[in-house]
Amino acid sequence: METADVVIIGAGIVGSSIAYHLTAGGCRNVLVLERESAQGKGSTGKSMGGVRAQFSTPVNIQMSLYSIPFYARFEERLGHPCGYRPQGYLFCATSAAQMKYLRTNYEKQIVLGLKDVRLISADEIHNDFPQLRADDIIGGSFCSSDGFVDPYSAMIGFMTWACEHAARLWKNTAVTGIHRESGGAYSIETSRGMVSSAKVVNCAGAWAASVAKMVGIDLPVEPLRRMLVPTEPFDDFPHTAPMIIDMSNGFHFRPESRGFLLAWNDPEETPGYKTDFEPGFIEKILTRAADRVPIFENLAVNPKRAWAGLYEMTPDHHPILGEVPEVPGFYLANGFSGHGVMHAPATGKILADIILSGKTELIDTSLLSLSRFAEGRMIEETAVL
Ligand SMILES: Cc1cc2nc3c(=O)[nH]c(=O)nc-3n(C[C@H](O)[C@H](O)[C@H](O)COP(=O)(O)OP(=O)(O)OC[C@H]3O[C@@H](n4cnc5c(N)ncnc54)[C@H](O)[C@@H]3O)c2cc1C
Repeated sequence: METADVVIIGAGIVGSSIAYHLTAGGCRNVLVLERESAQGKGSTGKSMGGVRAQFSTPVNIQMSLYSIPFYARFEERLGHPCGYRPQGYLFCATSAAQMKYLRTNYEKQIVLGLKDVRLISADEIHNDFPQLRADDIIGGSFCSSDGFVDPYSAMIGFMTWACEHAARLWKNTAVTGIHRESGGAYSIETSRGMVSSAKVVNCAGAWAASVAKMVGIDLPVEPLRRMLVPTEPFDDFPHTAPMIIDMSNGFHFRPESRGFLLAWNDPEETPGYKTDFEPGFIEKILTRAADRVPIFENLAVNPKRAWAGLYEMTPDHHPILGEVPEVPGFYLANGFSGHGVMHAPATGKILADIILSGKTELIDTSLLSLSRFAEGRMIEETAVL
């Protein structure tokens, strides 16, 4: 039987970051199991690549405070690009309640050490982006170190470094069962044979609940479709723009290649493994795009280039991280609720710390434990896009 010190199930950006942080921390016998023939076929390859520290809960802000500087120095550390572009995130408030919300978040972000965030006036937004319809914008918040990465490149960078330092990646290897032996180690049943390990990490993204079920855990992680629409080349809005969020309806967009990438969370979407792009979504999103940016009425989109992927939602929109006390040696890194790319570096560090030394200083992990749901300790994140 094949053996490993740590087995990671899933080679998306989260599993790859954990593999990197474990090997960088000195653990050399790491085996990553991925059922697909290539990395990136899960949510990572479908992501919009946004990274931001502008969150409403301290723990999410702390995870970004590790992750974004990590992405800024990614190439220097790993010798591989991650495509970090610090073009910022600009939240545009259209009501006093939203402005109050941004101010409260801003104060929390500053207290925790974020330096690049500031509140911004409606006039400044109008001066910077006269293309936006600004009659109802009353102000906003902007963080210049927020921005975008290339999720695929970051994922490959993490895994390449890990494999160059003795980790192994087995593709075409589906995990089909997990059994705990009397000595405490796990026998992991895969399409390529049995693997034995004392430590197993669930990094199965939107499929994490089915992997957790293999050890008898009910994991509250649900798949939820998100759709993105790239435009054809368009030069009448600056390509240096940040991610711009219209808080009146959640529509947001960012420059991508020679055009823009449009996103909107359709409240009518229901949980399920739906990965087909719904053509009717184009009209819904273009209506919102032209409402906020009137010149977007002239945008051209090719429906064939639009795509859909899965968010992995938890009831409080925070990830579930750490060892499950009832199943010693079984670790969770799941339920990122749309933030798995931006929080992958912090997640890798947190999981590697816990696996290698039993503790981490990066966050208070009890906040993100699975038991918070049963114990009524949910910590709702409201800044979800
Ligand atoms: C449209 C869209 C836009 C997004 N935009 C952003 C964004 O702007 N910023 C951001 O931070 N996040 C964003 N996200 C979310 C982000 O993409 C995810 O949170 C992140 O990719 C999760 O990474 P992961 O490694 O956990 O999951 P995945 O990338 O899904 O990887 C999980 C892997 O596990 C494998 N697997 C599953 N079951 C098994 C099994 N039984 N055996 C072996 N392998 C298995 C799968 O094949 C897959 O490769 C977006 C997501 C979508 C869909």
